[in-house]
Amino acid sequence: MYLKSKLILQLVCALSLCNTLNGQIHMEGSVALDLKTGFFKCDLQLSNLPKLKAYRILLNKGMNIKYFKDTRNELIDYVGHYDGSIKGEAVEYTFKADPNEHIPQEFRVNYKGAFPVYVDDFNLFDHKGLIAINDKTLRATEQTKWYPVVYDVKNDKLIHSYTYDLTLSLEGGSTIFINGSAPKKAAKEHFVSNKAHPLLLFAGNYDFVEDKGDYILNTTVTKENAEIIFGNIARIKNNLSKNLGIEFSDNIYLIHHRAINKRKKGSSWGFNTYPSFAFTGLDFKKLVDSNGKFYDDYYKYFGHEFGHNYFGSNVMSGKLGWFWLESFAEYLSYNTAEDLSGKQFLSEVLIEQLKHIKESSFIPLDKIEHKDQIDEKYRYVLAPLMLKCFEDRFGRQKANLTLKYVLDFAKKESLTLEHLERAATKSGISKKQFEVFKTNFIIHTDFKEHIIREIEKKYG
Ligand SMILES: [Zn+2]
Repeated sequence: MYLKSKLILQLVCALSLCNTLNGQIHMEGSVALDLKTGFFKCDLQLSNLPKLKAYRILLNKGMNIKYFKDTRNELIDYVGHYDGSIKGEAVEYTFKADPNEHIPQEFRVNYKGAFPVYVDDFNLFDHKGLIAINDKTLRATEQTKWYPVVYDVKNDKLIHSYTYDLTLSLEGGSTIFINGSAPKKAAKEHFVSNKAHPLLLFAGNYDFVEDKGDYILNTTVTKENAEIIFGNIARIKNNLSKNLGIEFSDNIYLIHHRAINKRKKGSSWGFNTYPSFAFTGLDFKKLVDSNGKFYDDYYKYFGHEFGHNYFGSNVMSGKLGWFWLESFAEYLSYNTAEDLSGKQFLSEVLIEQLKHIKESSFIPLDKIEHKDQIDEKYRYVLAPLMLKCFEDRFGRQKANLTLKYVLDFAKKESLTLEHLERAATKSGISKKQFEVFKTNFIIHTDFKEHIIREIEKKYG
Protein backbone atom coordinates (compact mmCIF):
# COMPACT_ATOMS: atom_id res chain seq x y z
CA MET A 1 0.00 0.00 0.00
CA TYR A 2 3.04 2.24 0.03
CA LEU A 3 2.04 3.58 -3.35
CA LYS A 4 -1.18 5.18 -2.25
CA SER A 5 0.18 8.24 -0.54
CA LYS A 6 3.33 8.64 -2.54
CA LEU A 7 2.13 8.11 -6.03
CA ILE A 8 0.08 11.19 -6.39
CA LEU A 9 2.97 13.58 -6.28
CA GLN A 10 5.50 11.37 -7.96
CA LEU A 11 3.86 10.90 -11.28
CA VAL A 12 5.50 13.33 -13.57
CA CYS A 13 3.79 12.56 -16.76
CA ALA A 14 3.87 15.07 -19.47
CA LEU A 15 2.28 13.55 -22.47
CA SER A 16 1.92 13.27 -25.85
CA LEU A 17 -0.68 12.83 -28.49
CA CYS A 18 -0.05 15.83 -30.59
CA ASN A 19 -2.48 17.36 -32.99
CA THR A 20 -0.78 18.48 -36.10
CA LEU A 21 -2.99 21.18 -37.42
CA ASN A 22 -1.93 21.19 -41.06
CA GLY A 23 -0.73 17.81 -42.13
CA GLN A 24 1.20 15.11 -40.44
CA ILE A 25 4.97 15.52 -40.11
CA HIS A 26 7.00 12.59 -41.41
CA MET A 27 10.60 11.92 -40.39
CA GLU A 28 13.07 9.68 -42.14
CA GLY A 29 16.77 9.04 -41.95
CA SER A 30 19.29 7.40 -39.68
CA VAL A 31 20.09 7.48 -35.98
CA ALA A 32 23.24 5.85 -34.62
CA LEU A 33 23.55 5.35 -30.87
CA ASP A 34 26.45 4.24 -28.72
CA LEU A 35 25.58 2.98 -25.27
CA LYS A 36 29.13 3.15 -23.89
CA THR A 37 29.89 6.72 -24.91
CA GLY A 38 26.35 8.14 -24.89
CA PHE A 39 26.88 9.25 -28.46
CA PHE A 40 24.10 10.19 -30.93
CA LYS A 41 24.69 10.66 -34.64
CA CYS A 42 21.61 11.70 -36.58
CA ASP A 43 20.83 12.50 -40.17
CA LEU A 44 17.13 13.28 -40.45
CA GLN A 45 14.75 14.62 -43.00
CA LEU A 46 11.43 16.15 -41.93
CA SER A 47 8.69 16.51 -44.49
CA ASN A 48 5.06 17.58 -44.72
CA LEU A 49 5.58 20.29 -42.14
CA PRO A 50 2.52 22.36 -41.22
CA LYS A 51 2.24 25.81 -42.73
CA LEU A 52 3.45 27.85 -39.77
CA LYS A 53 4.65 31.42 -39.79
CA ALA A 54 5.60 31.68 -36.15
CA TYR A 55 7.66 28.59 -35.45
CA ARG A 56 10.80 27.28 -33.76
CA ILE A 57 12.75 24.14 -34.44
CA LEU A 58 13.79 22.73 -31.09
CA LEU A 59 16.78 20.46 -30.70
CA ASN A 60 18.35 19.28 -27.44
CA LYS A 61 21.02 21.71 -26.26
CA GLY A 62 23.59 18.90 -26.27
CA MET A 63 23.26 18.36 -29.99
CA ASN A 64 25.68 20.08 -32.38
CA ILE A 65 24.41 20.84 -35.81
CA LYS A 66 26.53 20.10 -38.86
CA TYR A 67 24.04 21.69 -41.24
CA PHE A 68 20.46 22.21 -42.30
CA LYS A 69 19.72 21.51 -45.97
CA ASP A 70 16.76 22.06 -48.24
CA THR A 71 15.12 19.71 -50.75
CA ARG A 72 17.69 20.63 -53.41
CA ASN A 73 20.48 19.61 -51.03
CA GLU A 74 21.48 23.27 -50.61
CA LEU A 75 22.58 24.58 -47.21
CA ILE A 76 20.01 26.62 -45.33
CA ASP A 77 21.12 29.56 -43.23
CA TYR A 78 19.66 29.59 -39.75
CA VAL A 79 19.47 31.53 -36.48
CA GLY A 80 20.13 30.09 -33.03
CA HIS A 81 23.73 28.84 -33.28
CA TYR A 82 25.02 32.05 -31.67
CA ASP A 83 23.40 33.61 -28.61
CA GLY A 84 20.37 31.43 -29.20
CA SER A 85 17.37 31.05 -26.94
CA ILE A 86 16.65 28.01 -24.86
CA LYS A 87 13.20 26.52 -24.56
CA GLY A 88 13.06 23.73 -22.01
CA GLU A 89 15.70 21.18 -22.94
CA ALA A 90 16.33 22.62 -26.37
CA VAL A 91 17.93 25.41 -28.35
CA GLU A 92 15.48 27.25 -30.59
CA TYR A 93 16.34 27.48 -34.27
CA THR A 94 14.65 29.35 -37.08
CA PHE A 95 15.60 29.62 -40.73
CA LYS A 96 17.04 32.92 -41.83
CA ALA A 97 14.49 33.47 -44.54
CA ASP A 98 12.21 36.34 -45.34
CA PRO A 99 10.39 36.96 -42.02
CA ASN A 100 7.07 36.70 -43.84
CA GLU A 101 7.79 33.18 -44.98
CA HIS A 102 6.44 30.01 -43.48
CA ILE A 103 8.54 27.15 -42.23
CA PRO A 104 9.62 25.17 -45.34
CA GLN A 105 7.61 22.08 -46.07
CA GLU A 106 10.73 19.96 -45.85
CA PHE A 107 14.23 20.18 -44.44
CA ARG A 108 17.14 17.94 -43.55
CA VAL A 109 19.35 18.27 -40.50
CA ASN A 110 22.56 16.50 -39.60
CA TYR A 111 23.87 16.62 -36.02
CA LYS A 112 25.80 14.87 -33.28
CA GLY A 113 25.74 14.94 -29.51
CA ALA A 114 27.02 13.00 -26.53
CA PHE A 115 25.43 12.55 -23.12
CA PRO A 116 26.68 11.35 -19.72
CA VAL A 117 26.60 7.64 -18.94
CA TYR A 118 25.83 6.77 -15.31
CA VAL A 119 27.45 3.49 -14.30
CA ASP A 120 28.25 3.44 -10.57
CA ASP A 121 27.18 7.01 -9.95
CA PHE A 122 24.05 9.16 -9.91
CA ASN A 123 22.64 12.54 -10.74
CA LEU A 124 20.70 14.40 -8.04
CA PHE A 125 17.52 14.36 -10.14
CA ASP A 126 15.93 12.60 -13.05
CA HIS A 127 12.96 13.57 -15.18
CA LYS A 128 11.43 12.93 -18.54
CA GLY A 129 13.37 15.73 -20.19
CA LEU A 130 16.77 14.17 -19.51
CA ILE A 131 18.52 11.81 -21.87
CA ALA A 132 19.24 9.09 -19.32
CA ILE A 133 21.94 6.54 -20.00
CA ASN A 134 23.29 3.90 -17.67
CA ASP A 135 25.36 0.75 -18.24
CA LYS A 136 22.28 -1.14 -19.48
CA THR A 137 19.92 1.24 -21.25
CA LEU A 138 19.53 4.54 -23.03
CA ARG A 139 16.30 6.49 -22.62
CA ALA A 140 15.43 9.55 -24.69
CA THR A 141 11.83 10.78 -24.71
CA GLU A 142 10.21 13.24 -27.06
CA GLN A 143 10.50 15.83 -24.28
CA THR A 144 14.31 15.71 -24.54
CA LYS A 145 14.01 16.86 -28.17
CA TRP A 146 16.68 14.38 -29.24
CA TYR A 147 15.09 14.84 -32.66
CA PRO A 148 13.90 18.15 -34.14
CA VAL A 149 10.60 19.11 -32.55
CA VAL A 150 8.50 21.83 -34.13
CA TYR A 151 7.06 24.48 -31.85
CA ASP A 152 3.96 26.30 -33.06
CA VAL A 153 4.42 29.65 -31.31
CA LYS A 154 0.97 31.05 -32.00
CA ASN A 155 -0.90 28.09 -30.55
CA ASP A 156 1.74 27.34 -27.90
CA LYS A 157 1.91 23.74 -29.14
CA LEU A 158 4.81 21.36 -29.42
CA ILE A 159 4.45 19.16 -32.45
CA HIS A 160 6.42 16.00 -31.81
CA SER A 161 4.28 13.11 -32.97
CA TYR A 162 5.60 12.02 -36.34
CA THR A 163 5.18 9.15 -38.72
CA TYR A 164 8.60 7.71 -39.45
CA ASP A 165 10.88 5.63 -41.61
CA LEU A 166 14.10 5.33 -39.65
CA THR A 167 17.18 3.17 -39.56
CA LEU A 168 18.38 2.88 -35.99
CA SER A 169 21.70 1.36 -35.03
CA LEU A 170 23.09 0.61 -31.61
CA GLU A 171 26.69 0.12 -30.55
CA GLY A 172 27.19 -1.82 -27.32
CA GLY A 173 23.62 -3.08 -26.95
CA SER A 174 21.29 -5.82 -28.15
CA THR A 175 17.80 -4.33 -28.33
CA ILE A 176 16.32 -1.27 -29.99
CA PHE A 177 12.89 0.25 -29.42
CA ILE A 178 11.25 3.31 -30.85
CA ASN A 179 7.75 4.21 -29.73
CA GLY A 180 4.95 2.68 -31.74
CA SER A 181 6.98 -0.21 -33.18
CA ALA A 182 7.75 -3.59 -31.69
CA PRO A 183 11.19 -3.78 -30.02
CA LYS A 184 13.84 -5.62 -32.04
CA LYS A 185 16.89 -7.65 -31.08
CA ALA A 186 19.36 -6.18 -33.54
CA ALA A 187 22.42 -3.99 -33.88
CA LYS A 188 20.75 -2.20 -36.77
CA GLU A 189 17.10 -2.18 -37.74
CA HIS A 190 14.67 -0.41 -39.99
CA PHE A 191 11.50 0.92 -38.29
CA VAL A 192 8.48 2.25 -40.12
CA SER A 193 5.27 3.70 -38.69
CA ASN A 194 2.40 5.16 -40.67
CA LYS A 195 0.77 6.23 -37.45
CA ALA A 196 2.21 9.27 -35.70
CA HIS A 197 3.86 8.84 -32.32
CA PRO A 198 5.98 10.92 -29.99
CA LEU A 199 9.41 9.39 -30.51
CA LEU A 200 10.61 7.76 -27.34
CA LEU A 201 13.87 5.83 -27.78
CA PHE A 202 14.73 2.98 -25.46
CA ALA A 203 17.78 0.96 -26.45
CA GLY A 204 20.26 -1.23 -24.64
CA ASN A 205 20.96 -4.65 -23.28
CA TYR A 206 17.61 -6.01 -22.27
CA ASP A 207 14.97 -8.65 -22.96
CA PHE A 208 11.25 -8.26 -23.57
CA VAL A 209 8.07 -10.33 -23.63
CA GLU A 210 5.13 -10.07 -25.95
CA ASP A 211 1.46 -10.92 -25.57
CA LYS A 212 -0.89 -10.32 -28.52
CA GLY A 213 1.11 -7.34 -29.71
CA ASP A 214 1.53 -5.80 -26.26
CA TYR A 215 5.06 -5.75 -24.84
CA ILE A 216 6.91 -5.51 -21.57
CA LEU A 217 10.46 -4.28 -22.07
CA ASN A 218 13.52 -4.72 -19.91
CA THR A 219 12.09 -7.33 -17.62
CA THR A 220 12.48 -11.00 -16.85
CA VAL A 221 8.78 -11.77 -16.37
CA THR A 222 7.58 -15.04 -17.89
CA LYS A 223 5.03 -15.21 -20.68
CA GLU A 224 2.44 -16.47 -18.16
CA ASN A 225 3.13 -13.51 -15.91
CA ALA A 226 2.91 -11.15 -18.84
CA GLU A 227 -0.47 -12.60 -19.82
CA ILE A 228 -1.82 -11.97 -16.33
CA ILE A 229 -0.50 -8.42 -16.38
CA PHE A 230 -1.94 -7.74 -19.82
CA GLY A 231 -5.27 -9.26 -18.76
CA ASN A 232 -5.43 -6.69 -15.98
CA ILE A 233 -4.38 -3.93 -18.32
CA ALA A 234 -7.18 -4.92 -20.68
CA ARG A 235 -9.62 -4.46 -17.80
CA ILE A 236 -8.34 -0.91 -17.24
CA LYS A 237 -8.45 -0.08 -20.94
CA ASN A 238 -12.00 -1.42 -21.17
CA ASN A 239 -13.03 0.52 -18.10
CA LEU A 240 -11.70 3.83 -19.42
CA SER A 241 -13.21 3.35 -22.84
CA LYS A 242 -16.56 2.31 -21.40
CA ASN A 243 -16.66 5.33 -19.07
CA LEU A 244 -15.75 7.85 -21.74
CA GLY A 245 -17.38 6.09 -24.66
CA ILE A 246 -14.16 6.43 -26.65
CA GLU A 247 -12.34 3.33 -27.81
CA PHE A 248 -8.94 2.35 -26.43
CA SER A 249 -7.67 -0.16 -28.90
CA ASP A 250 -3.94 0.39 -29.26
CA ASN A 251 -1.29 -2.07 -28.25
CA ILE A 252 0.87 -0.78 -25.48
CA TYR A 253 4.46 -1.01 -24.33
CA LEU A 254 5.39 -1.22 -20.67
CA ILE A 255 8.97 -0.25 -20.04
CA HIS A 256 10.97 -0.85 -16.93
CA HIS A 257 13.62 1.86 -16.85
CA ARG A 258 16.20 2.79 -14.26
CA ALA A 259 16.34 6.31 -12.93
CA ILE A 260 19.70 8.08 -13.02
CA ASN A 261 19.13 9.52 -9.55
CA LYS A 262 19.08 7.59 -6.29
CA ARG A 263 15.51 6.94 -5.26
CA LYS A 264 13.85 5.96 -2.02
CA LYS A 265 13.13 2.26 -1.80
CA GLY A 266 9.57 1.51 -2.77
CA SER A 267 9.00 4.75 -4.65
CA SER A 268 8.05 4.58 -8.27
CA TRP A 269 8.33 7.17 -10.95
CA GLY A 270 6.34 6.81 -14.11
CA PHE A 271 5.87 8.68 -17.34
CA ASN A 272 3.76 8.17 -20.37
CA THR A 273 4.71 8.59 -23.98
CA TYR A 274 1.66 7.04 -25.44
CA PRO A 275 1.40 4.13 -26.16
CA SER A 276 4.47 3.50 -24.00
CA PHE A 277 4.37 3.57 -20.22
CA ALA A 278 7.67 3.67 -18.42
CA PHE A 279 8.23 3.03 -14.75
CA THR A 280 11.11 2.81 -12.35
CA GLY A 281 11.04 0.67 -9.27
CA LEU A 282 8.13 -1.53 -10.27
CA ASP A 283 8.64 -5.26 -10.00
CA PHE A 284 6.29 -6.54 -12.68
CA LYS A 285 6.18 -9.92 -10.98
CA LYS A 286 4.73 -8.34 -7.87
CA LEU A 287 1.93 -6.35 -9.48
CA VAL A 288 -0.69 -9.04 -8.92
CA ASP A 289 -2.13 -10.84 -5.88
CA SER A 290 -2.61 -14.59 -5.52
CA ASN A 291 -5.82 -14.38 -7.57
CA GLY A 292 -4.01 -12.82 -10.49
CA LYS A 293 -5.56 -9.41 -9.91
CA PHE A 294 -3.63 -6.17 -9.73
CA TYR A 295 -3.32 -4.75 -6.26
CA ASP A 296 -5.76 -1.85 -5.91
CA ASP A 297 -3.06 0.80 -5.99
CA TYR A 298 -1.98 -0.36 -9.43
CA TYR A 299 -5.45 -0.12 -10.91
CA LYS A 300 -5.44 3.50 -9.91
CA TYR A 301 -1.83 4.03 -10.96
CA PHE A 302 -2.38 2.64 -14.44
CA GLY A 303 -5.81 4.25 -14.57
CA HIS A 304 -4.07 7.62 -14.36
CA GLU A 305 -1.35 6.77 -16.87
CA PHE A 306 -3.74 5.27 -19.39
CA GLY A 307 -6.02 8.25 -18.85
CA HIS A 308 -3.38 10.15 -20.81
CA ASN A 309 -4.53 8.15 -23.80
CA TYR A 310 -7.32 10.71 -23.82
CA PHE A 311 -5.93 13.73 -21.96
CA GLY A 312 -2.50 14.04 -23.51
CA SER A 313 -0.67 16.90 -25.15
CA ASN A 314 -3.81 17.39 -27.22
CA VAL A 315 -5.00 19.33 -24.14
CA MET A 316 -1.63 20.63 -22.90
CA SER A 317 -1.78 24.23 -24.00
CA GLY A 318 -2.83 27.56 -22.60
CA LYS A 319 -2.62 28.83 -19.03
CA LEU A 320 -4.58 25.90 -17.62
CA GLY A 321 -2.56 23.27 -19.50
CA TRP A 322 -1.61 21.32 -16.38
CA PHE A 323 -5.20 21.23 -15.24
CA TRP A 324 -6.44 19.67 -18.47
CA LEU A 325 -3.52 17.27 -18.70
CA GLU A 326 -3.04 15.94 -15.19
CA SER A 327 -6.21 16.70 -13.24
CA PHE A 328 -8.44 15.00 -15.80
CA ALA A 329 -6.18 11.92 -16.04
CA GLU A 330 -6.20 11.75 -12.26
CA TYR A 331 -9.96 12.16 -12.15
CA LEU A 332 -10.34 9.27 -14.62
CA SER A 333 -8.23 7.15 -12.28
CA TYR A 334 -10.87 7.71 -9.55
CA ASN A 335 -13.48 6.15 -11.83
CA THR A 336 -11.19 3.22 -12.59
CA ALA A 337 -10.38 2.77 -8.91
CA GLU A 338 -14.05 2.81 -7.99
CA ASP A 339 -15.05 0.36 -10.73
CA LEU A 340 -12.19 -2.10 -10.37
CA SER A 341 -11.26 -1.79 -6.69
CA GLY A 342 -14.52 -0.67 -5.14
CA LYS A 343 -16.12 2.34 -3.47
CA GLN A 344 -14.42 1.70 -0.13
CA PHE A 345 -10.96 1.83 -1.70
CA LEU A 346 -11.75 5.05 -3.52
CA SER A 347 -13.13 6.66 -0.35
CA GLU A 348 -9.88 5.91 1.45
CA VAL A 349 -7.86 7.35 -1.42
CA LEU A 350 -9.90 10.56 -1.51
CA ILE A 351 -9.67 11.14 2.23
CA GLU A 352 -5.94 10.40 2.16
CA GLN A 353 -5.46 12.99 -0.55
CA LEU A 354 -6.93 15.77 1.57
CA LYS A 355 -3.83 15.64 3.77
CA HIS A 356 -1.69 16.88 0.89
CA ILE A 357 -3.62 20.11 0.39
CA LYS A 358 -4.85 21.12 3.85
CA GLU A 359 -1.87 23.36 4.60
CA SER A 360 -1.40 24.84 1.14
CA SER A 361 -3.06 27.74 -0.59
CA PHE A 362 -4.17 27.83 -4.19
CA ILE A 363 -5.24 30.42 -6.74
CA PRO A 364 -8.69 29.91 -8.29
CA LEU A 365 -8.49 28.75 -11.91
CA ASP A 366 -9.98 31.97 -13.30
CA LYS A 367 -7.13 33.95 -11.71
CA ILE A 368 -4.30 31.76 -13.02
CA GLU A 369 -1.90 33.79 -15.14
CA HIS A 370 0.99 31.40 -15.71
CA LYS A 371 0.96 27.69 -16.41
CA ASP A 372 3.15 26.87 -13.43
CA GLN A 373 0.79 28.43 -10.88
CA ILE A 374 -0.98 25.11 -11.14
CA ASP A 375 1.63 23.25 -9.11
CA GLU A 376 1.80 19.51 -8.45
CA LYS A 377 -0.57 19.56 -5.49
CA TYR A 378 -3.01 21.60 -7.49
CA ARG A 379 -2.94 19.45 -10.61
CA TYR A 380 -2.66 16.00 -8.98
CA VAL A 381 -4.79 16.51 -5.87
CA LEU A 382 -6.93 19.62 -5.54
CA ALA A 383 -8.28 19.93 -9.08
CA PRO A 384 -9.07 16.19 -9.45
CA LEU A 385 -11.02 16.46 -6.17
CA MET A 386 -12.82 19.44 -7.66
CA LEU A 387 -13.81 17.24 -10.60
CA LYS A 388 -14.91 14.56 -8.15
CA CYS A 389 -17.22 17.11 -6.50
CA PHE A 390 -18.50 17.90 -9.99
CA GLU A 391 -19.27 14.20 -10.53
CA ASP A 392 -20.89 13.83 -7.13
CA ARG A 393 -23.18 16.74 -7.85
CA PHE A 394 -24.18 15.91 -11.42
CA GLY A 395 -23.64 12.16 -11.64
CA ARG A 396 -21.02 9.99 -13.29
CA GLN A 397 -22.74 9.91 -16.63
CA LYS A 398 -22.94 13.67 -17.08
CA ALA A 399 -19.42 14.10 -15.73
CA ASN A 400 -18.01 11.65 -18.27
CA LEU A 401 -20.04 13.18 -21.05
CA THR A 402 -18.62 16.58 -20.09
CA LEU A 403 -15.11 15.14 -20.40
CA LYS A 404 -15.95 13.77 -23.81
CA TYR A 405 -17.11 17.18 -25.03
CA VAL A 406 -14.04 18.85 -23.54
CA LEU A 407 -11.94 16.48 -25.67
CA ASP A 408 -13.94 17.44 -28.74
CA PHE A 409 -13.24 21.13 -28.13
CA ALA A 410 -9.53 20.38 -27.65
CA LYS A 411 -9.31 19.14 -31.22
CA LYS A 412 -9.76 22.69 -32.46
CA GLU A 413 -8.46 25.09 -29.84
CA SER A 414 -6.71 25.61 -26.52
CA LEU A 415 -9.08 24.81 -23.68
CA THR A 416 -10.44 27.45 -21.30
CA LEU A 417 -12.93 27.42 -18.44
CA GLU A 418 -15.52 28.50 -20.95
CA HIS A 419 -15.07 25.18 -22.75
CA LEU A 420 -15.71 23.37 -19.49
CA GLU A 421 -18.93 25.30 -19.08
CA ARG A 422 -20.00 24.63 -22.67
CA ALA A 423 -19.17 20.93 -22.29
CA ALA A 424 -21.12 20.74 -19.04
CA THR A 425 -24.23 22.38 -20.45
CA LYS A 426 -23.99 20.22 -23.59
CA SER A 427 -24.03 17.17 -21.36
CA GLY A 428 -27.34 18.18 -19.81
CA ILE A 429 -26.30 20.31 -16.84
CA SER A 430 -28.21 23.60 -16.79
CA LYS A 431 -26.31 26.88 -17.06
CA LYS A 432 -27.58 27.83 -13.64
CA GLN A 433 -26.50 24.57 -12.02
CA PHE A 434 -23.04 24.96 -13.53
CA GLU A 435 -22.86 28.57 -12.39
CA VAL A 436 -23.58 27.55 -8.79
CA PHE A 437 -20.90 24.85 -8.97
CA LYS A 438 -18.38 27.22 -10.52
CA THR A 439 -19.03 29.92 -7.95
CA ASN A 440 -18.43 27.59 -5.02
CA PHE A 441 -15.83 25.10 -6.24
CA ILE A 442 -13.82 26.82 -8.97
CA ILE A 443 -13.65 30.60 -8.57
CA HIS A 444 -14.50 31.23 -4.91
CA THR A 445 -11.61 32.52 -2.76
CA ASP A 446 -12.36 29.65 -0.37
CA PHE A 447 -12.80 27.07 -3.11
CA LYS A 448 -10.25 24.75 -1.53
CA GLU A 449 -12.14 24.72 1.79
CA HIS A 450 -15.40 24.04 -0.05
CA ILE A 451 -13.86 21.07 -1.87
CA ILE A 452 -12.36 19.65 1.33
CA ARG A 453 -15.64 20.02 3.18
CA GLU A 454 -17.60 18.34 0.39
CA ILE A 455 -15.19 15.39 0.15
CA GLU A 456 -15.10 14.96 3.95
CA LYS A 457 -18.87 15.06 4.14
CA LYS A 458 -19.30 12.37 1.53
CA TYR A 459 -16.30 10.07 2.14
CA GLY A 460 -15.06 10.85 5.66
ZN1 LIG B 1 -0.06 12.12 -15.46
